[in-house]
Amino acid sequence: MTPTVLILLGPPGAGKGTQARMLEEDFGLVQLSTGDLLRAAVVAGTEAGKQAKVVMEQGGLVSDEIVLAILKDRMAQPDLAKGIILDGFPRTDGQAAALDDLLGVAGQKVNAAISLEVDDEAMVGRIAGRYTCAACGEGYHDTFKQPATAGTCDKCGGTAFKRRADDNAETVRERLNAYHTQTAPLIAYYEGKGVLKRLDAMGAIAEIRQSLGTIVSRVAA
Ligand code: AMP
Repeated sequence: MTPTVLILLGPPGAGKGTQARMLEEDFGLVQLSTGDLLRAAVVAGTEAGKQAKVVMEQGGLVSDEIVLAILKDRMAQPDLAKGIILDGFPRTDGQAAALDDLLGVAGQKVNAAISLEVDDEAMVGRIAGRYTCAACGEGYHDTFKQPATAGTCDKCGGTAFKRRADDNAETVRERLNAYHTQTAPLIAYYEGKGVLKRLDAMGAIAEIRQSLGTIVSRVAA
């Protein structure tokens, strides 16, 4: 069986990470977030991590070279047999072309690129209030999704939470800008390949999960 390859496209705050985690649960696919991989490299203090840190703090895009090296390493791991959900990748023309090459060599292809369509203005508020469990990564929000018991993660019972350094209003504007100039053109790229699906992602998390599930069940191998 050929592994399913899904891409989630959308600006920061669109819900790519949240929905990718749900697709993991619902379909047994594995979320590959280049943002998470880069943050791990920053924490590990690798050379790539040091270079990435400066760019990430400013809300720009890390070089294709660094991102591709980190992604290739991750894609070589043996736990991706069922398929992957790419979250935050590709973000440039060069990355999209490199992904096609990488998949082509393995006899694979992109099954669907799903564009989560949202209003930019709402993204600033969504991002400013978000935080995650430090232990399991479950996502929460000051306004939209508090844990059932204040201060305790619903999923793992953890009591430590963290906020991303780049989730401040100023950096978010830069990240939105980078999305529109460098990443949004990929929507047309995947449309041209006949694999683009558009999804209104302004509604409730559970509703989007359901609509996304319908799309994925049609395209998953
Ligand atoms: P994210 O977690 O997807 O919001 O990514 C956080 C930051 O990591 C972005 O603002 C970029 O600086 C960097 N980053 C993540 N993925 C990529 C990518 N595919 N290409 C370039 N930079 C990336």
